[in-house]
Amino acid sequence: MNTNLITDRPTFVTHLECSMTGERYAADTLQGLSRVGRPLLVRYDLAAVKASLDRDALMRRETDLWRWRELLPVRDTADIVSLGEIETPLIPLPRSGGRNVLVKDEGRLPTGSFKARGLVMAVAMAKALGVTRIAMPTNGNAGAALAAYATRCGIETIVFCPDDTPEINVREIAMQGARVWRVNGLIDDCGAIVAEGAKQGRWFDFSTLKEPYRIEGKKTMGLELAAQFGWELPDAIFYPTGGGTGLIGMWKAFDELEALGWIGPARPKMFAVQASGCAPIVRAFEAGEDHAERWEDASTVAAGIRVPKAVGDFLILRAVRESGGQALAVGDPAILKAVDAAARADGLLLCPEGGATLAAYRQAVKMGQVDEDERVVLFNCATGLKYPMPAAPQALDRTQPIDFDAL
Ligand SMILES: *Cc1c(COP(=O)(O)O)cnc(C)c1O
Repeated sequence: MNTNLITDRPTFVTHLECSMTGERYAADTLQGLSRVGRPLLVRYDLAAVKASLDRDALMRRETDLWRWRELLPVRDTADIVSLGEIETPLIPLPRSGGRNVLVKDEGRLPTGSFKARGLVMAVAMAKALGVTRIAMPTNGNAGAALAAYATRCGIETIVFCPDDTPEINVREIAMQGARVWRVNGLIDDCGAIVAEGAKQGRWFDFSTLKEPYRIEGKKTMGLELAAQFGWELPDAIFYPTGGGTGLIGMWKAFDELEALGWIGPARPKMFAVQASGCAPIVRAFEAGEDHAERWEDASTVAAGIRVPKAVGDFLILRAVRESGGQALAVGDPAILKAVDAAARADGLLLCPEGGATLAAYRQAVKMGQVDEDERVVLFNCATGLKYPMPAAPQALDRTQPIDFDAL
């Protein structure tokens, strides 16, 4: 039994806050976006957390996501449906990456992607607040994580995905108990259906950043990194950016850790990585804009980052700029080449989005945006096993003489 889940620890949420205007909202009631249509952020009494918990005590706990309870929104552990949210390892990538490159391999989480971090939190809060039916637009992995956690606690789920979503994603969503619909459009078209149904009172809208708690789950990536790096942070983080939940969440985590006095003011350069076929954040970054226009005709092999319009665009752009990082786009050929290189040279199977971070890292080194001496973390957000691989057609007829030299 995981003692992080049975202990009766205090919680410290004070309120929710509009990420755009700072307006306060009550915690412990069901909330979507703020009045101005922007994400709500969860705020904690960090002074009280600081007084009740020290770093060393935390380090003695089991290493999973729930060791961070005091910095998470769930009040009652009975609301948590856990599938084993482990701390993910940092894997060196010496040949295809470089001597200071580590991959945070999120593919080892339940349902095979880091969407589990966000959804385990959001579902726990939905359960606590009495939600019985949830709908979500997804490019695959979020729907799978939602289906798994919601089904496990008896919440009904309806999931809408683009009709070219990776086949395995659609099937895992269905198999884990959701009603899944393939839609002839992109994720924001699916989002419009979810929004309409929510307006009609049919379900609760679980779109990225449209409820406050997925960020809190994704925030744990930043908390883990700080602990794994001995309460320092890496010099640069490469994050495959769709809705940007993880990048926004990590940025929030670093501020909270600094408020606790657990880390200093130094921050990694944050690199928001997108695909050239869908790069609204990169375009806005380069144009010096605070918000990103919708990207038309979005197309990339990296389905998880095919997000034409992000409701948290200004938060992504702000974090990237404040950190001294960059928003970078890489083409599909470079993405596939990077996946291939990591698998063949380092034995690590990345998802396409993870490949995008490796390709972007190499590009950033060439452009002088990051130095090979800097300690870098690349995010591999899902297991590579979910995605198509090149065929391996060689067969051996054991009834014929075998040419061992040719094997
Ligand atoms: C969802 C997803 C992303 C993008 O994550 P955001 O935090 O929404 O930007 C990247 N890679 C994979 C594999 C994903 O499933």
